[in-house]
Amino acid sequence: MPNREIVQVHIGQAGVQIANACWELYCLEHGIQPNGVLYNYNRGADDSYSPFFSLSGSGQVVPRVLMVDLEPTVIDEIRTGHYRYLFHPGQLLTGKEDAANNYARGRYSIGTEMIDLALDRTRLLAENCNSLQGFIIFKAFGGGTGSGFTTLFLESLWSDYRKVSVLEFAVYPSPRISPIIVEPYNACLTTNGCMEHENVCFVMDNEAVYDILLRNLDVSRPTYTNLNRLLGQVVSAVTASLRFEGAINVDLVEFQTNLVPYPRIHFPLITYAPFVSASKAYHEQLSIAQLTNSCFEPANQMVKSDPRTGKYMSCCLLYRGDVTPVDINNAILNIKSKRSVNFVDWCPTAFKVGINYQPPTAVPGGDLAKVTRAVTMLSNNTSIKDAWERILRKFNMMFAKRAFVHHYVGEGMEESEFQDAKEDMMALVQDYKEVEG
Ligand code: GDP
Repeated sequence: MPNREIVQVHIGQAGVQIANACWELYCLEHGIQPNGVLYNYNRGADDSYSPFFSLSGSGQVVPRVLMVDLEPTVIDEIRTGHYRYLFHPGQLLTGKEDAANNYARGRYSIGTEMIDLALDRTRLLAENCNSLQGFIIFKAFGGGTGSGFTTLFLESLWSDYRKVSVLEFAVYPSPRISPIIVEPYNACLTTNGCMEHENVCFVMDNEAVYDILLRNLDVSRPTYTNLNRLLGQVVSAVTASLRFEGAINVDLVEFQTNLVPYPRIHFPLITYAPFVSASKAYHEQLSIAQLTNSCFEPANQMVKSDPRTGKYMSCCLLYRGDVTPVDINNAILNIKSKRSVNFVDWCPTAFKVGINYQPPTAVPGGDLAKVTRAVTMLSNNTSIKDAWERILRKFNMMFAKRAFVHHYVGEGMEESEFQDAKEDMMALVQDYKEVEG
């Protein structure tokens, strides 16, 4: 399998805390100790880690990662934590002052002090790859660094690396509880700012994931650690084909081609199954038909929207572990016959399937049971427009009164950018309505 490297960039508090979960999981998957030393260094041929880690002369692996935050506390926890020797100190970038939940600070004022360094370090990581396949960016829409700094960063990255994929995993403001009052502003501004500079953006809202943890995984008070570990499993599934052998390995470019019919319609829904709690470990072994059906249950989605009210444009089903193509085909035939699963009429009801032999790895002390098979579905469904409409409504309520706008203008942002962002979001909702037909 040719090694196609990925550089991951974690931005802002949410982005960096998600990194903790992701890199913990990758280490477990590839047999890497917290200090970066491989458990079986002499294993010879197994270099499955190489898309995500480079190997140093001393036999230690180093993540192909950059973490950036405009303030130090979250990254300081990594600098002093269990994985402190895994990361190269030059990959952990912090400033002194945070973005105060203000997109304009991340993009126009204090973010500009960090941008050159962040881009230089990213270039170094990219130059260290033989065949860079893409970048994966992690951020939250709602804060200031994730929203503003990412926009600034992606503008430059896009012009330098047009030929590789740029994927984002982004935490979307929760429908009911948004801890930050200006999240709708930051979310619209960053969505508008990044629209032309990313190929795919996977959104997940904390409320949807919180409900999954509460309902299916018996976690009575989910924390960010719980939420991030689930997200880590999804990222691992999406990238498993780059790292492990499989019967049908779908690489990033391939599933991007299948998922994104038009450049702007690039916000797929993520659904995962099975959510089996660690306490039920060996009691539940779900069939492939059951797993596949679960992917069409809104309760298994990482965003609150109801795909039954919208239409699918494409579905990418990424199976891991002990699965057979015959069972998958039968399960898909069954799905196609369901009335509740509707496709747009201009697109054949095509399902892209990926099969990877590596089953998911359970994190010790984590919420998910060890299972022998799992599936992640990435689907482009028009119902995601509900999530954009929800944000836009909140944006409009505040913007009608120009509430909080002075904080943004005070950091050097033109007020007209609000208007542009608002119009772009309205156009996005309209785009989804049009593709629905
Ligand atoms: P920034 O550092 O200025 O980008 O701000 P944050 O990353 O804290 O963005 C705020 C948003 O991120 C809010 O919607 C929070 O609920 C969410 N958030 C903050 N930390 C985490 C985290 O560790 N995991 C998840 N899933 N969401 C987070």
